[in-house]
Amino acid sequence: MAKDYYATLGVRRDASQEEIKKAYRRLARELHPDVNPDPATQERFKEITAAYEVLSDPQKRQMHDMGGDPFGGAGGGAGFGAGFPFSDIMDAFFGTASASRGPRSRARRGRNATIRVELDLAESGFGTTRELVVDTAILCEVCQGSGAAAGTHPDTCDMCHGRGEVSQVTRSFLGQVMTSRPCPQCGGFGSVIRHPCQECSGDGRVRTRRTIKVRIPAGVEDGTHIQLAGEGEVGPGGGPPGDLFLEIVERPHPTFERRGDDLHCTVSIPMTAAALGTSLTMETLDGPEQIDVRPGTQSGQVIPLYARGVQRLNETGRGDLLIHVNVETPLKLDPEQEELLRKLSQLRGEERPPGKFAPGQQGFFSRLKDAFNGR
Ligand SMILES: [Zn+2]
Ligand SMILES: [Zn+2]
Repeated sequence: MAKDYYATLGVRRDASQEEIKKAYRRLARELHPDVNPDPATQERFKEITAAYEVLSDPQKRQMHDMGGDPFGGAGGGAGFGAGFPFSDIMDAFFGTASASRGPRSRARRGRNATIRVELDLAESGFGTTRELVVDTAILCEVCQGSGAAAGTHPDTCDMCHGRGEVSQVTRSFLGQVMTSRPCPQCGGFGSVIRHPCQECSGDGRVRTRRTIKVRIPAGVEDGTHIQLAGEGEVGPGGGPPGDLFLEIVERPHPTFERRGDDLHCTVSIPMTAAALGTSLTMETLDGPEQIDVRPGTQSGQVIPLYARGVQRLNETGRGDLLIHVNVETPLKLDPEQEELLRKLSQLRGEERPPGKFAPGQQGFFSRLKDAFNGR
């Protein structure tokens, strides 16, 4: 009598491969000989396994659907044993998605690459466009990635007959089972390239130098990585390209120190200007800017210029420019200046006893200092 394997697994005749696999796994867990050692259960286990072997193989399934016996008739139903794919049983119990069966593809994804891009502050702060020359691998035009010489194609491996794996029969708790390993002759590809493409020596890609134009967004900073998807090298065997990463290196600016989106700088003004107030012109990233210093500005005070820093990355708005004021005390006074300052200190009631460095005090240090200053 003809077996109905669909009934054995309890699936509909139009069940998908996934449904068949699920049904088998569920039953196999129930009926595993270690769980249910009685002979009837073992017999049932063999039946569902035979059913799975047929229905999971499109060719055998078709044969079954047409009323044929995929096991060749001899011994009727004695097909289980040697030749059963062990990995499917492992699947059933351990749920490991069995390594994709059959030959593996020669095509693999290309590697990622990183290149460093040096920018000055204006470029990183406001964005720029750069043409970059990269050494990379591109698809071989001659073989289109196949690796085989023009007019030829990879031959089916005669050791594994294109399966990419070779099988070995071993004994285990199920009796004889088959284990597989990658074919040593073709390396698991299932095919052998007998006449490699001369252009790429069979790799399917060639090395080249390529110029790419990239837009660097405003607000990147030292150490920022920019990912350019698919701009890395093409993979072997015509595989998809990896990504290209740009690593930003920011050159130090002579005036501004960048902290995040803010810029910092220091300006020195004379003591008198700090006391009386002044205005000065400063070269910013936006061009010359007038800065007003209030009368009475102290050394160390910060004058902010809002939104004169760098553009925020992926946001609107800009950081600030923060000007740190350094008040300079005069280094050398001529007699008239000294007199004026004394007068000022008298008027302000700020006279203090002269120290040993005061002019007119003939200590060792002041003599030394006078000599040094050419007085
Ligand atoms: Zn080639
Ligand atoms: Zn092989």
